[in-house]
Amino acid sequence: MNRLKTITFSEIKTFLTCQQRWKFRYIDLLTPETKSQAMLMGSYVHDQLATYYAGAGITEVGCDENLEESNRQFSYIMVDAVIDAGKLKQFDVDPEKEFMVDIPGRRTKFTGKIDGIVLDHNGRNILIEHKTTGNTFDKLIKVLSESWQCKLYLWAISRLTDIPTWESCYQIIEKPSRLRLKKNETESELLIRKAQWYRDTEHIHLFYKPMILSEIKAVPAFLYTIVGQMLNALNQGVTKNCEECESMIYKEGCPFLSVCQGGNTDHFEIRETKHQELRGYNVG
Ligand code: SF4
Repeated sequence: MNRLKTITFSEIKTFLTCQQRWKFRYIDLLTPETKSQAMLMGSYVHDQLATYYAGAGITEVGCDENLEESNRQFSYIMVDAVIDAGKLKQFDVDPEKEFMVDIPGRRTKFTGKIDGIVLDHNGRNILIEHKTTGNTFDKLIKVLSESWQCKLYLWAISRLTDIPTWESCYQIIEKPSRLRLKKNETESELLIRKAQWYRDTEHIHLFYKPMILSEIKAVPAFLYTIVGQMLNALNQGVTKNCEECESMIYKEGCPFLSVCQGGNTDHFEIRETKHQELRGYNVG
């Protein structure tokens, strides 16, 4: 099986973070039996927002059974509270667009899923991405400003439509990470405080990132180079980036630490497909 038939932005990000982690995740298709709660919450919130913007309200549809009950309730409350407080941006969104485009000069295709596309009142098309963060808004903006994600997505979409001008907008929902269980407080009371936190203050932000033509033009060369580096890594052996073993964005450490240190794969499953999050183009 050619594991480089398709690549996604997440895969590229993983490869640039640690090649060994990329091999475990995208070539060997290993996945830890115990899922990261932060990751599951993030995808659950995404699912709820997609359902909401599709006009179906929010439900527990798509909720991963591995998501702990308290996290499931909090994710639901989080989206419900921001909608109820009237703070979720009222975009007329065409939600969850999957795409797949050729990478010039390579046999690999670039694929992914865009959270939404909006035609705003100025007649501009805007690409929407939802993010949740436990960090401050300013910290996340720095990361997003430097990220390739929207550049890659804008380039991919520009290959599929005739609409010439695009910009991207991140809708960022902060998480009340400083609200902890107080003495004698129940989990339910904490959830109520968290919901109130969304109603009291502005914890939803929009960060617009205009499309810069030179950045979009640089995308094919970037993708070409990345695929070349992946092929080299497969042929010559992957490198390890030990600085990343502890410093995962999910604060739970690298999920492959045990197997990376020579342990067995008893607590891992082999995924059937490489990009399980993609339904339409789930290949490779
Ligand atoms: S444990 Fe460290 S070196 Fe090994 S895959 Fe994870 S980040 Fe890479």
